[in-house]
Amino acid sequence: MLKRYLLAPGPTPVPSEALLAMAMPIIHHRSPDFLPVLDAAKNGLKWLYQTKNDVLIICSTGTGGMVGSVNNFFSPGDKALVINAGNFGERWTKICKAYNLYVEEIKIDWGYAVKPEDVEKALKKDPSIKGVFVQASETSTGVYHDIKTLASIVKKCKNTIFVVDAISALVAHDLKMDEWGIDVLIGGSQKGLMLPPGLAFVGVSEKAWKFAEKSTSPKFYFNFKKERESLAKNQTNFTSPVTLIIGLNECIKILQKEGLENAFKRHETLAHATREAVKAIGLEMFTKESPSNSVTAVNAPKGLDGQEIYKNLRVKYGITAAGGQGQAKGKIFRIAHLGYADTFDVITAIAGVEMTLKGMGHPVKLGAGVAVAEELLLK
Ligand SMILES: *Cc1c(COP(=O)(O)O)cnc(C)c1O
Repeated sequence: MLKRYLLAPGPTPVPSEALLAMAMPIIHHRSPDFLPVLDAAKNGLKWLYQTKNDVLIICSTGTGGMVGSVNNFFSPGDKALVINAGNFGERWTKICKAYNLYVEEIKIDWGYAVKPEDVEKALKKDPSIKGVFVQASETSTGVYHDIKTLASIVKKCKNTIFVVDAISALVAHDLKMDEWGIDVLIGGSQKGLMLPPGLAFVGVSEKAWKFAEKSTSPKFYFNFKKERESLAKNQTNFTSPVTLIIGLNECIKILQKEGLENAFKRHETLAHATREAVKAIGLEMFTKESPSNSVTAVNAPKGLDGQEIYKNLRVKYGITAAGGQGQAKGKIFRIAHLGYADTFDVITAIAGVEMTLKGMGHPVKLGAGVAVAEELLLK
């Protein structure tokens, strides 16, 4: 037998309360049974997003929320400024190009965060830029971009909206949508929200809704104006993913019991302990600055393949963490501490890394990382 531990930056483990709630018989999405369910989800998401506006619930993975945020607020030929600091930044560029936006990139070496002044300069140089696209947490490199400062810069530009992919950052980082002035804030179910894959969430500011009025890009499945109208009646345009929304309400209940500030604090503490433990093992962080609270990206020691570390963790010890993506493939491995994660997820991950590296012939003092993690997580 091999007991499995899911420590990947999505999908993440789902709490039993949500699993059990999702096991109940299916209700019909147009029946009165469903209206209070969606109403609760709507209110819960507003709380999580720290916004007074409705947050759209889309039946798709997170990327669907990204695609919809391009084709609903922009038109062919519009200029997009993409902060490309990793695999998911690159995805913004690909989606914008697929909808015939004109893309200008701020390219950042993997492992580094964007300098907000570079965004400010680019916007000054070209006021025709319609949208600034970024990740809050760039999952491929473990970097958190300074969303608060970036929002304050874009907010000053009347003709520009700020579009944030927070799919791996929601719940792990404080993102004050209304207060900071984030225009479009995208989340996904299978990360910090502790749900199975299949839902995207999109928070939209009044400024962004004005952009939607002018958008001429083709829309059918991802039609946010129609979703907004449906949501006002506690409906979604097409068949609602009732099971996932029932699970969402359970997960929001768990988070409300914990409190939003405490959830951010928990992620910060777990991330810090993971980083310090990894260093105590003698490993180097791949992330060079501004590390994310969601995932820790670690360089594979010289002579070892990051994908092999990931594979050994999974095959020998049942721990599913993550390898590298794109240009970092083979060079790194990643450990998530996201969503339904606590002290012993970190201890498990660190112990697993120590044992795996030792098993691969790398000199490790067993327990060195675990001791540091225990110290930092002592209550
Ligand atoms: C996981 C993730 C996505 C979306 O992935 P899906 O597979 O479409 O759910 C997008 N951006 C970031 C930063 C992510 O971590």
